[in-house]
Amino acid sequence: MTETTGTCRKRNWLLLGAAILFAALLAVLCLLLRPKPGAPDRFVIRYGSGEALEIPARETRTVVIRDGKIVDEATGEGDENVIRIENGTAWMETANCPHHECMKQGVLSADTVGSRPLGTWIVCAPHRVYVEYAGDGQ
Ligand SMILES: [Zn+2]
Repeated sequence: MTETTGTCRKRNWLLLGAAILFAALLAVLCLLLRPKPGAPDRFVIRYGSGEALEIPARETRTVVIRDGKIVDEATGEGDENVIRIENGTAWMETANCPHHECMKQGVLSADTVGSRPLGTWIVCAPHRVYVEYAGDGQ
């Protein structure tokens, strides 16, 4: 082995090391800079035979669902759910389902998802009305 090829080999190893380091740095940067997937930003209300209504979490709105359809106002007739969305929170305001389980599930928000038994969901099983706190990729 001459001295020239030895230096050349060393330089190649250095270049390879630098390339690997650069690639690793790039990968870390990509991980740090990508937007958080699934950060909740909207409430998705599922009802009826598969219909879904998406409402941005910051909106303020009352949604009334009766017998699987969205209606203008609550009358207490049929299978009725009144869902309130207000400044990043959602809850089942009233419902005439048998045991009002959906009303007992409390407020759904970024602050409560971690401690709620149903996580990102409010579920009214008897009426098949579901509210999900959803984000991208969910
Ligand atoms: Zn219910």
